[in-house]
Amino acid sequence: MQFHLECIECKEKYKKAPLYKCLRCHGKGILLVRYEFDHEIYRSDITLSELKRNFIFHDHKIDNILGEGNTPVKKFNTLSEKLNINLYGKYEFLNPTGSFKDRPVAAGIKKAIDFGIENVVVASSGNGAAAVSAYAAATGLNSIVLVPESIPLEKVMQTKFYGSKVIKIKGPYSNSFNLALKMSQTGEFYNLTTTFINPYTIEGDKGVAFELHFQLDEWPDYIVVPIGAGPLLAGIYKGFEELNKLFGLKRKLPKMIGVQASGCSPIARAFLYNAKHVTAEKNPSTIAGGISDGLSGYSEDGTYTLDIIRNADGYCIDVSDEEILEAQLELARMEGIFVEPSAASSLAGIYKLSKLYGEIFTEKNIALILTGNGLKDLKSIRISEQTTPCINPEIEELNKALETF
Ligand SMILES: *Cc1c(COP(=O)(O)O)cnc(C)c1O
Repeated sequence: MQFHLECIECKEKYKKAPLYKCLRCHGKGILLVRYEFDHEIYRSDITLSELKRNFIFHDHKIDNILGEGNTPVKKFNTLSEKLNINLYGKYEFLNPTGSFKDRPVAAGIKKAIDFGIENVVVASSGNGAAAVSAYAAATGLNSIVLVPESIPLEKVMQTKFYGSKVIKIKGPYSNSFNLALKMSQTGEFYNLTTTFINPYTIEGDKGVAFELHFQLDEWPDYIVVPIGAGPLLAGIYKGFEELNKLFGLKRKLPKMIGVQASGCSPIARAFLYNAKHVTAEKNPSTIAGGISDGLSGYSEDGTYTLDIIRNADGYCIDVSDEEILEAQLELARMEGIFVEPSAASSLAGIYKLSKLYGEIFTEKNIALILTGNGLKDLKSIRISEQTTPCINPEIEELNKALETF
């Protein structure tokens, strides 16, 4: 399938190349992949993997690197009843490294191979780091990973174990981001940071939309996405827009709901105050590390996500750490699902919106994107190992211990 890169600001077009943001817009304009499918309507029997090959990976010779994507979608019966909605979960935490970041990273790694670049760099709060390290290992590329000091132990250990060079950068995530950008500007390192810096990584996020199209009878009315800068949300929306175009459909697009943590909510704040532009958050502070992106130096990325949410007739909302931890526990206790705090913010967001707007969600189909695995960040969860009884192997002691619950 023919495509080009296009700047969302000045509409300048570029041929397939290892570019980042628009050169004419001085590194501020986001570049997106645009397909030339105006007159081509696809057969309705095209398979999911053909769709991905054509419209995500552009005929790259490796179909799948580690088994990424094709995650289940399940209905949450207990929570659906409680909230009087049809609530679904898309199990992105089941990806090979435990988060959806495998999708954008797989797409970016394939491009690094296509372009013949052997060194990759990423700035990540942890999940993108693990994904780049694993995918670089599997494809024989060298990887350098810049992470904030506050990265959870589990994420840094996982990342180092796959063999990349991991360096902690002092200060908030934005510091890692800006340093990785500088490194990649020499051309020697391909930047796989999963924000809007690399136009090909967001194509990987589209896989969520393509899969939901095949998995569900109807497109969801609402899709709830925890957002840092927002490429996952943008990618999912782009995926549905493209499905309409390439199948010649005129379906109503899902309304996109972005959820941020109150301690780092530049996009939610701009949405709430009806601001035209997003302003960076200088001192992010939240337990939800995966969505703690203050956007310092690249707040235009947040503005792009804000515009998508508005165009999609959606919402952007912030939830407190308290609300996130409660939702995380509820997903485990009611549905048997263990996700990391950032991922649980999606459920916390729906709770808050239901309280604010009540009936508008009644009986609607709502899909939560469950972005990361609970095992990736054990320090912040709401139980303590210290309270686990430890006894001699005697039935009397066991009975006594059981009474303490
Ligand atoms: C990266 C990440 C997000 C946010 O995704 P963006 O595409 O950066 O907005 C949400 N949840 C988890 C667990 C993540 O790792």
